[in-house]
Amino acid sequence: MKPTIALVGRPNVGKSTLFNRLTRSKDALVADLPGLTRDRHYGHGRMGSKPYLVVDTGGFEPVVDSGILYEMAKHTLQAVDEADAVVFLVDGRNGLTPQDQIIANRLRQSPRPVLLAVNKGEGANRAVLAAEFFELGLGEPLVISGAHGDGVYDLIETVLEHF
Ligand code: GDP
Ligand code: MG
Repeated sequence: MKPTIALVGRPNVGKSTLFNRLTRSKDALVADLPGLTRDRHYGHGRMGSKPYLVVDTGGFEPVVDSGILYEMAKHTLQAVDEADAVVFLVDGRNGLTPQDQIIANRLRQSPRPVLLAVNKGEGANRAVLAAEFFELGLGEPLVISGAHGDGVYDLIETVLEHF
C-alpha cells in the first residue's frame, strides 16, 4: 500500500506548488489568491525511494463561533486523520504566525508522523529559519523551496523513512 501524505498549512504557504512538484503535475491550482484550492486534491508521486499518494488540502478557514480565531477546516482535519503522514508547511518569508501555532497545536496531537517544512527558503539562511520555527514543537524543521525544488527530495525521503 502506498502511504498517503497530506500537505497542510494556512493559505498561500505553497501547498499546491509543492503538490505539483511531488506529483510532477500542474493539476493543483497555484495562485496568488489565498485559499484557491477549495477541496482536497489527490495525486500519485514517485520522487524518492517509494511511491506515495499526496493530498493537497484547501488550508484553513476561519471558524467564527469556535472561540479561537482559526481552526482547521473540516475536510482538512479529515485529510489529516486519513493520511499516513502529514507535511505541515509554513512560510519562511512571512515568518511564524499565530495561525501556524494553532495548526501546530492540533497536529501535535496526531498519532501519525508530522514533518515541519519551512517553505520559500530559497536564498535564505537555513539555520536561522529552522531556529525560528523550531518553537512550534514539531521537531527540527526542514527548510525547502517548493518552487525551486531545494530540499524537496530530502523532505520526501524523510517522510518515506517511516514506511
Ligand atoms: P497554497 O495556497 O498553500 O496552495 O499556495 P500556492 O502553492 O498556491 O502558492 C502561493 C504563492 O506562493 C504563489 O504565488 C506561489 O508561486 C508562491 N510560492 C510557492 N512556493 C514557493 C517557494 O518555494 N518560493 C517562493 N518564493 N514562492 C513560492
Ligand atoms: Mg493551494
